[in-house]
Amino acid sequence: MIEPIRDKKKDLKFDLVGSIPFVMMHISVLAVIFTGFSWPGVAVAVVLYFVRMFAITGAYHRYFSHRSYKTSRWFQFVLAFWGTTAAQKGPLWWAANHRHHHRHSDTDEDLHSPGLHGLWWAHVGWITSTKWNSTDFEGIKDFSKYPELRWINKQYLLAPLLLALGVYSFGALLESTGTFGLAATYPFLKTTAMQMLIVGFFISTVVLYHGTFCINSFAHLIGAKRYKTGDESKNSLILALITLGEGWHNNHHYYPGSERQGFFWWEVDITHYVLKTFSLFGLVWDLNNPAPHVLAMGPSGNVKLATAPAQPAMKGATLEDEALA
Ligand SMILES: [Zn+2]
Ligand SMILES: [Zn+2]
Repeated sequence: MIEPIRDKKKDLKFDLVGSIPFVMMHISVLAVIFTGFSWPGVAVAVVLYFVRMFAITGAYHRYFSHRSYKTSRWFQFVLAFWGTTAAQKGPLWWAANHRHHHRHSDTDEDLHSPGLHGLWWAHVGWITSTKWNSTDFEGIKDFSKYPELRWINKQYLLAPLLLALGVYSFGALLESTGTFGLAATYPFLKTTAMQMLIVGFFISTVVLYHGTFCINSFAHLIGAKRYKTGDESKNSLILALITLGEGWHNNHHYYPGSERQGFFWWEVDITHYVLKTFSLFGLVWDLNNPAPHVLAMGPSGNVKLATAPAQPAMKGATLEDEALA
């Protein structure tokens, strides 16, 4: 089951066949020129953007990549399946690559460093490369031991296909003259099935791609740097709003084991609020906080203010300690 580690000889080659779905997804948005848009399509696009952004941030990132909270085996599978609706491949692929990013941030080994490899490469180039298209099972042993996760990691197209079908069917129902064809009474519900599919699914998915990718590219370029992390990660409110809390990327690189990435009350972190709500219902538990000495530094990140030794405050924060334990 273990696939070979990336072949160095294949570095930076464009993966022609493997990139077809990704490229086609982008081309598909041009169909809106022919279908036009509808407001119900826009509403579905916005809802699906945020619901699936949470799947990336709350599931793929904070759970599968960093194990920053705990959950049951059945809800773990729900999180994995939910994540695949974003059409960003499987949870094991995503999380293994992301762990690699943390181990090698802004070094030559980093898969998406805008400072070293350029903005285009950091944003989308690496995704179309043969180097990163297989799952590094060695890097995600703690989750690849579950057969259901290996299955969904392989069948990552299932959820996007079902979602596209569901969105199209919903549009067809609204378009019909039957029970759900409500446009005659409520003109703002007027749509065609194709408008719903193109706007509600395809455009939403492509915007979701680029919202997510902003963290790999812009979050290592623009914003404020609170902590010395040895990389170029930054904090940005705008990116945090676009990505439901992931814009506090310098916080996150400093203490990746924390479930919340907004360390102070004004650092809006909607993924954290949702996970906190889930914890009230017993769906998730043991949400990790930043260590007390990290918070003791205050918003300036001044290590001299900390009550704990001014060590690189990574004890308990590294992937090796927190995620791979
Ligand atoms: Zn980063
Ligand atoms: Zn991370």
